[in-house]
Amino acid sequence: MAETLSLPGFVNAHSHAFQRALRGRTEGDDFWGWRDAMLELAESLTVEQVRVGYEQVYREMLNAGYTAVGEFHYLGAAEAHAAVEAASEAGIELVLLLAAYGRGGIDRFRQGSPARYLEQLEELRAAGVRVGLAPHSVRACPRDWLEELGRYAAAESLPLHVHACEQPREIEECLAEHGLRPIELLAETGCLGPHTTVVHATHADARELDLLAEAGARICVCPTTEANLGDGFAPVQELCERGIGICVGSDSNVRIDPLEELRELEGIARRRAGRRNVVSVSSLLCFGADEGAAALGLEQWPDVEVDLEHRSLAGVEDVHAGLVFGSSADVFV
Ligand SMILES: [Zn+2]
Repeated sequence: MAETLSLPGFVNAHSHAFQRALRGRTEGDDFWGWRDAMLELAESLTVEQVRVGYEQVYREMLNAGYTAVGEFHYLGAAEAHAAVEAASEAGIELVLLLAAYGRGGIDRFRQGSPARYLEQLEELRAAGVRVGLAPHSVRACPRDWLEELGRYAAAESLPLHVHACEQPREIEECLAEHGLRPIELLAETGCLGPHTTVVHATHADARELDLLAEAGARICVCPTTEANLGDGFAPVQELCERGIGICVGSDSNVRIDPLEELRELEGIARRRAGRRNVVSVSSLLCFGADEGAAALGLEQWPDVEVDLEHRSLAGVEDVHAGLVFGSSADVFV
């Protein structure tokens, strides 16, 4: 038996499992071009493809050290149940973050009204599914949707996840429609609180970061996807200075490796700050596990085992630092 070390399992706080099928494809010159290919794929998927495909993706996550996942799901109600079944078959802890889509996107994303959305959510809860609310974005949810979902999440103490400030165009459109930046709009509509996770926040300004800190909200950074889509650099140091909790997600699943997400996160911070050790190794591992679990409202989730005899760790004095800075997900057994 190889010598191993137990660590809290990594928590993938933001996944769209179906986008795994776009791995290795390079069409679309920017986020919006990529989004066209993504929508085409989303439109074509059957419930059975979700059931089978997601199980494979969740098995890949487990092999890579993720033992829990927040699936930000916008493919429809029957497909949500298929995702839950896939996770159960694979053996990964799943929180279904049911996306609310009021406008834009494609037909299968949209519920028609906040009331219809909440019916779908309650139906999942009644079936024993662990859920969170996920107003997709300020692009996809009008103001009244945000208000109603924010109220419901606060009243029920459920996680609320929302994409915001990923792309400059989204911010310009939000300013034109509401006279507010996306995170300002989330604050005004009651969507920012201690159970809130804002996904990306790549282009959030100082005032928006202050609002996140005041609300006790978290940010989910998805470095490999943000790099792949040319989103920009997460403001890691600014988040840490304000004490904002950070978790990570594999998002589009172009890569599934929590160590790579954490290494990228610290790499971005170092490049921007011009120094080393912006975030400590223990904090990075906490971002990868505990903060993700807190973002999903999980109190317990399985551990992961590190193969201490793996060649990536040979000669390494500090195993934890060796993991984050010198290893890939194949060190997990
Ligand atoms: Zn996303």
